[in-house]
Amino acid sequence: MQIFNNRRELQQFALDAKRSGKTIALVPTMGFLHDGHMSLIDIARQKADIVIVSIFVNPKQFAPTEDFDRYPRDFDGDVAKCADHDADVIFAPEIDAMYDGNASTWVEETVLAKPLCGASRPTFYRGVTTVVAKLFLLAQPDYAVFGLKDAQQCFVIQRMVRDLDFPVEIIPAPLVRDADGLALSSRNRYLSADERTRALSIHRSLLAAKARIQKEKAFAPALEEAVATVTAAGGRVDYIEILDCDTMLSPDANTRQVILAAAAFFGTTRLIDNEIFAL
Ligand code: AMP
Repeated sequence: MQIFNNRRELQQFALDAKRSGKTIALVPTMGFLHDGHMSLIDIARQKADIVIVSIFVNPKQFAPTEDFDRYPRDFDGDVAKCADHDADVIFAPEIDAMYDGNASTWVEETVLAKPLCGASRPTFYRGVTTVVAKLFLLAQPDYAVFGLKDAQQCFVIQRMVRDLDFPVEIIPAPLVRDADGLALSSRNRYLSADERTRALSIHRSLLAAKARIQKEKAFAPALEEAVATVTAAGGRVDYIEILDCDTMLSPDANTRQVILAAAAFFGTTRLIDNEIFAL
């Protein structure tokens, strides 16, 4: 397995690989890898000749008040896991190796990125789309795998790829949970044992809301009950909403699939989760 820290070296490697007829699959991550990330790497491994995993805690997607400085990091552990899952390349640049000091160009998706996490974290998605656009130009992937744990992010990236004609196929990967239902996340590391137990209310409330929506064909009572469940467990709800997956607007007669999405704080830790289903 090769490790690149320099973005030009990665790009040269990728261009050479493409010229020799190889296909590339990219898995963008912020590191502190868990089984959710590994499932993405396994999907990438099945798709392409070369699997590139990027590990970069991207400062452009964190607001000044957020957890950039304390975001968990374990580079040696991540390298071992990537080797174990047969990745070919890790790209792990320092911040100044990724962005020039006076970088002034942003890539921004302006519709799907607006609600949910885009409403609570207004500068988040433009940070994501900017770094992912750069990663696509550096790693030259034929495929890029994104987890549905961050479903809105996946939809935003798909829209960016369509709108800007990136020659890459986005592969959405299923959300991976712990046995007790908690969505795997690097940020789960912040939770105390008690907070972790109480945070199980997020998934529980989503499943109950999904069942009620499918039975009653009404949203408001189910969403209110979900908010009450998470609040009763000591969580501070940021949002629990149901939106059309294609438009990220309220579902209507044309809706094919909905996303029932939640974000809530337990202690200082903000967790997100979702269920995607047909009405
Ligand atoms: P992150 O390192 O949190 O930025 O995540 C990198 C990629 O891993 C993103 O595409 C995430 O959606 C995906 N991912 C993170 N957690 C999970 C999970 N529990 N299940 C599936 N994919 C995940």
